[in-house]
Amino acid sequence: MLRRAKELRRALKGIEVDFSRAVRLCYARSASIFWMEPLAVAYPKSAEEVVRVVRACAELGVPITARGAGSSIAGQCLSRGLVLDFSRYMNETIEVDPEGRRAKVQPGGVLSRLNERLRPYGLFFPPDPSSADFCTVGGMAAVNSSGARFVRYGPTRRWVRSVKVVLSTGDVALIGREGWEASGKGAEILRTAEAVVERHRGTALKGAPKVAKNASGYALWEAAEKDSLLPLFIGSEGTLGVFIELELEVHPLPRRRACVFSLHRSAEGAAEAALR
Ligand SMILES: Cc1cc2nc3c(=O)[nH]c(=O)nc-3n(C[C@H](O)[C@H](O)[C@H](O)COP(=O)(O)OP(=O)(O)OC[C@H]3O[C@@H](n4cnc5c(N)ncnc54)[C@H](O)[C@@H]3O)c2cc1C
Repeated sequence: MLRRAKELRRALKGIEVDFSRAVRLCYARSASIFWMEPLAVAYPKSAEEVVRVVRACAELGVPITARGAGSSIAGQCLSRGLVLDFSRYMNETIEVDPEGRRAKVQPGGVLSRLNERLRPYGLFFPPDPSSADFCTVGGMAAVNSSGARFVRYGPTRRWVRSVKVVLSTGDVALIGREGWEASGKGAEILRTAEAVVERHRGTALKGAPKVAKNASGYALWEAAEKDSLLPLFIGSEGTLGVFIELELEVHPLPRRRACVFSLHRSAEGAAEAALR
């Protein structure tokens, strides 16, 4: 462990990385019941730094885990390897295009801050986990978050137009609804992923879960249905690549809000009414 830490320190020279016990203990926790102490915590400031970290870790055999706010409740952001914390520096809203109803963001930006930025344009980002005041957009995309307005607006996957990701080889890929761009080994990986989806198309479509909300597993059925790798990456919990930029679709703010109080004889009846 000590040797690995030394090698990592050398390989990541110039990048902000904390190996101190105090910081590692902080990152050993999340909103889950689990506990796992990482080797170190890196705070990347740019896409180039993320690429360097991924390449160095691949070479040294150190696992990496991306982290936003650490508010996921199943231990997804914990790691024995290197934690990549996006919330410290890579947390900006890069641009808002009100006419095109798009926003480009870095992964570590907090949802409520994005919505503050969108409000003057009469826009908002609809997925609404109740952790909105602290969860990050990268974390939301990685777990396909949704909240109380799910029935109306659907989960995060529905609102992501494209993601820029660093793949396990350190190659950067742009994956959108209509296709992807990548070079070298990155392109090879994505072509293989497409072939896997194609090979299992029938099974994936037949096995599509018939539920309104599903945030478990890779969305193979949606990738098959939409002929796109994007649904696979959204909800992949950082296992397929690390997001470094996201292009989001945003929506006009509702003109009015109302609260409806309705009484039902059963929970099933209430759920059916909500879906209507
Ligand atoms: C009080 C509370 C209320 C909550 N309410 C809801 C709710 O209503 N709906 C809901 O869906 N969830 C809810 N959650 C769970 C959680 O807040 C959300 O899932 C949230 O979207 C996670 O975001 P995060 O920034 O905390 O991600 P983290 O917990 O830091 O990470 C979550 C996952 O995303 C991955 N990840 C993070 N950043 C990146 C990146 N840049 N690239 C690739 N992968 C990345 C991590 O590796 C990990 O697998 C709640 C949690 C709490 C504590």
